[in-house]
Amino acid sequence: MTQAFDVVIVGAGMVGAALATGLGRSGFRVGLVDQGAAPSYDAAQPPDIRVSALSAGSERYLAELGAWPDILAMRATRYTRLAVWDETDHPLSNVLPRKIAEVVFDARNLSARHLGHIVENRITQQALWSSASAQPSVTLFCGHAVTSLSNSDNYATVTLDDGTELTGELVVGADGANSGVRNLAGIGVTRDQYQQQAMVVSVRYQGPVQDITWQGFYPSGPRAFLPLHAAGNGESWASLVWYDSPEELARLKSLDNSALMAEIQNAFPPELPLLTHIDARASFPIARQHAKNYVNNRVVLVGDAAHTINPLAGQGVNLGFQDARCLQSVLREARRAGCDLANPARLDQYEQQRRPANRRMMLAMDVFYHLFSNRTPPLHLLRNLGLGAAKAMPFARNRVAKYAMGIDDDLPPVIRQLAERLPGFKQL
Ligand SMILES: Cc1cc2nc3c(=O)[nH]c(=O)nc-3n(C[C@H](O)[C@H](O)[C@H](O)COP(=O)(O)OP(=O)(O)OC[C@H]3O[C@@H](n4cnc5c(N)ncnc54)[C@H](O)[C@@H]3O)c2cc1C
Repeated sequence: MTQAFDVVIVGAGMVGAALATGLGRSGFRVGLVDQGAAPSYDAAQPPDIRVSALSAGSERYLAELGAWPDILAMRATRYTRLAVWDETDHPLSNVLPRKIAEVVFDARNLSARHLGHIVENRITQQALWSSASAQPSVTLFCGHAVTSLSNSDNYATVTLDDGTELTGELVVGADGANSGVRNLAGIGVTRDQYQQQAMVVSVRYQGPVQDITWQGFYPSGPRAFLPLHAAGNGESWASLVWYDSPEELARLKSLDNSALMAEIQNAFPPELPLLTHIDARASFPIARQHAKNYVNNRVVLVGDAAHTINPLAGQGVNLGFQDARCLQSVLREARRAGCDLANPARLDQYEQQRRPANRRMMLAMDVFYHLFSNRTPPLHLLRNLGLGAAKAMPFARNRVAKYAMGIDDDLPPVIRQLAERLPGFKQL
């Protein structure tokens, strides 16, 4: 059986479901396919192991799509402060207070109510599936994987694993880092695997929900605390992220909960509240990956299918939402002008807007990664001077915070210059 749409979106993760909602609200006929089952929410459920720090920019976008109130009605944790510091030993470690190399971003200094929210991925996806399904012109196909893709002059066709065929003027690959659509469309990637991996640990701690998220940089990688909602009995949930070598993380993952708890208490800074339980853990390989093209004929890529970045500043899905928002407006304009939705000049506008912005963020993350994973004294000095300068200059600090919050589109010049000197800048 063949069904016809204007746009077929493969992958109803956070980015694909957001794009489907946005296009559906503009009257496009959208087929939205995901191999997974519909996400479900139960207030008694422990948190999803995958959580994301959503910027104020993403919050605005999700509000425009009508999904934000649903997210808040389920659960989301507001943070008003973000602290970053260097935890590397240096000759003056014992003399200087650690706070000297600490920068705190505070919403009050930016005239903002908060810096962002930590939200479980399952909750964002659930709210977006509801908003997508509420659009009469969006049809969801869940529990089906796409197995093939073909292009003709006037449309593209994807075939699902039950033989159903869906045609569209445009097929969007929103199917994540290992995108099958990208492969089927013959789009290659440049990829760099980082030496570090990330282990995420879902924990409960004693005390009320904190309004701060923090990250300490150690020579073996950052260690971060992301607050989540209240757990009852005077406890709260949180997500810890521990970046380290694959070997060290394999050792930690093999420990039982009480041994892992002891390792965390030993390795994390004193800011860590008193942990009471470890509830889940998972590790994620991290790689910087960029599709060589975002567009090929009637296929276009968004989100992790187009780019993955080091998650150390939690920007991956925020960039994906910016892709979705940009593609939505390009397609609306194409329709208004009576163009084919796969018009090359129109899709080129999307790539021209999003590729440089995504590349800048990837490279900014690499600046942080290289600067903080390096033990050599000049770099140590440089990063402390950098943190010291950010501390001393509220203007510079506020620019960094506004960029990370999605309020400013421009990367602060000093980070942009450092990024452009990194090996591989030209190939990305
Ligand atoms: C440790 C870690 C921490 C992170 N923290 C943050 C953070 O704080 N903030 C942030 O912004 N980002 C963060 N990220 C990144 C963020 O998780 C990703 O950028 C985001 O999940 C990408 O969303 P997506 O919708 O593009 O892809 P995905 O979430 O990968 O969704 C892809 C969807 O496609 C479906 N699919 C795949 N193949 C097929 C197929 N053949 N047919 C049909 N369906 C298919 C899948 O079922 C899935 O639903 C983090 C990442 C990691 C690893």
